[in-house]
Amino acid sequence: MHTIYKQCAHCGAPIALSPILRPHSPGGTLWSDGYLETSSAEPPLLGKCWACGAIGCLTELPTIESAAPPADEADCGVVPLTLDDYALLLDNLQEISAQFHSYLRIKFWQLNNHRRRGNDDTMPLSDVERTNLTELLRLLGEEDANRLLKVEILRQLQEFEDARMVLNTILSDMVNGAFDEQYGPLVARLRQSIAEGDARLLRINGV
Ligand SMILES: [Zn+2]
Repeated sequence: MHTIYKQCAHCGAPIALSPILRPHSPGGTLWSDGYLETSSAEPPLLGKCWACGAIGCLTELPTIESAAPPADEADCGVVPLTLDDYALLLDNLQEISAQFHSYLRIKFWQLNNHRRRGNDDTMPLSDVERTNLTELLRLLGEEDANRLLKVEILRQLQEFEDARMVLNTILSDMVNGAFDEQYGPLVARLRQSIAEGDARLLRINGV
């Protein structure tokens, strides 16, 4: 697969991107916050220019069609955003297109949870994390995956009654074949954790 070069909107530097469309790699580890650990990570939606540090939407930057690859390809890859970058963006949301708000909040949630994956899963949510989750809850629609995220957010916020109510709508849709069956294992784990009053981040499958 060829590397794609995007042009930084700020300084014009070519930014090397792995192809956006790549086969889904099986065998990753799925976590209850939707974070999927795989050997070939999905390219991010937002990234930083290696040359000037400007943050841009990587899918919207113009592709450089004919440009010769820069001499040292290894040095011009997209720089992933850090937790601090996401925190800063969330502090300035009014300057950012609304279409990215839920993405930013999900990323901020998942990056914070990295401290809990395989480490201390009893670490309580900070106030900033709680605020982020409460705001994210309002942004999520009714698609199957989003409804599951709502259950998970409510569970992590320890609002178990509300979590159970949303989960029950999913369970009845599953009976009617109106909910994607591939989420079955995740639904079962969430149901069990809610019944146990357990708000910890869960590893759903994988090694
Ligand atoms: Zn730049």
